[in-house]
Amino acid sequence: MSRFWTDKIASLDPYVPGEQPQDKKYIKLNTNESPYSPSPKAIEAMALEVSERLRLYPDPNCATLKNALAKSYKLDASQVFVGNGSDEVLALAFMGYFAGGKPLAFADITYSFYKVYAGLYGIEPKLIPLNDDFDIIPADYENLDVSGVVITNPNAPTGKALPLADIEAILKANPDVVVLVDEAYVDFGAQSAVSLINQYPNLLVVQTLSKSRALAGIRVGYALGHADLIEGLERLKNSFNSYPIDRVALVGATAAVEDEAYLKEICDKTIATREQSVKDLEALGFSIIPSATNFVFATHPEKNAEQIYLTLKEQGILVRFFGSDKPRIGNYLRITIGTDEEMAALTAALKTL
Ligand SMILES: *Cc1c(COP(=O)(O)O)cnc(C)c1O
Repeated sequence: MSRFWTDKIASLDPYVPGEQPQDKKYIKLNTNESPYSPSPKAIEAMALEVSERLRLYPDPNCATLKNALAKSYKLDASQVFVGNGSDEVLALAFMGYFAGGKPLAFADITYSFYKVYAGLYGIEPKLIPLNDDFDIIPADYENLDVSGVVITNPNAPTGKALPLADIEAILKANPDVVVLVDEAYVDFGAQSAVSLINQYPNLLVVQTLSKSRALAGIRVGYALGHADLIEGLERLKNSFNSYPIDRVALVGATAAVEDEAYLKEICDKTIATREQSVKDLEALGFSIIPSATNFVFATHPEKNAEQIYLTLKEQGILVRFFGSDKPRIGNYLRITIGTDEEMAALTAALKTL
């Protein structure tokens, strides 16, 4: 607290990211990073950029990256927006499309940053409870008097995917507001809503290079949607920071998006490891929500999640525990899928418990 703080600063309830401890080397299964290197083509492009061109500003319009994304998703470049991580894209979308006075609908259990942005922009959250199996029920999104809807698909931290028909039902039920679908994990096994973009001018799909493309370190995310929605985001971005994507990130992201074979290779590996990990954890008595992501959401009927989290941390393995005070998920752990070796180390540590 400082006497210089405005009421606004004092009122904020900032996001708390998963631990990034610097004290020793952990097996990090707590922030859904990829255990694999990014595309070698991306690394090569970034190295060249560092050695030759850093004195120049980057392209404020990110044209090469937008063109690569447009090509990959069979869209026009005018349907692509690029930001400094999808967190920044989400922040701009909340500011631009959801701060109109009415509440914003999203699930009671979902990415916790939505509540933080809502607080930042004075948006009232309208929390729509998942059912007892942690499913989103599309009928719950009908007849809402809201400024917009945010759906995370697959959802986090549950890992559960929603079929495309259910996303379409939610879009149809909310034609006069923006429906934002956060697809941070879609490459690990869910159906993307990108195929609906040309039919629904109210659809904004947000994705990131941080998870499936193993590039959390360069901070690149993007939104795909109708050109008018994208232009709105551009107006906001250019009223705040014209250069949120640096030169290194720009060339690395472009090369990574173009390297679709590598994306598939590392996603397939993660999915195979996930299926094995589910079996191993179930054999130890854990109950696992079916996951379409690079993590599993796990609970043990006889063990305390916080105790497991603390014991694993002592043994050098970090998983995500959200707090025993969290309603409905207080005895769950979110475990990122690492390499086969990392997951074997996890299973071995859990056995000693
Ligand atoms: C990780 C994550 C993001 C943020 O990703 P960045 O692009 O790294 O900012 C957004 N939404 C969800 C649901 C996530 O899990």
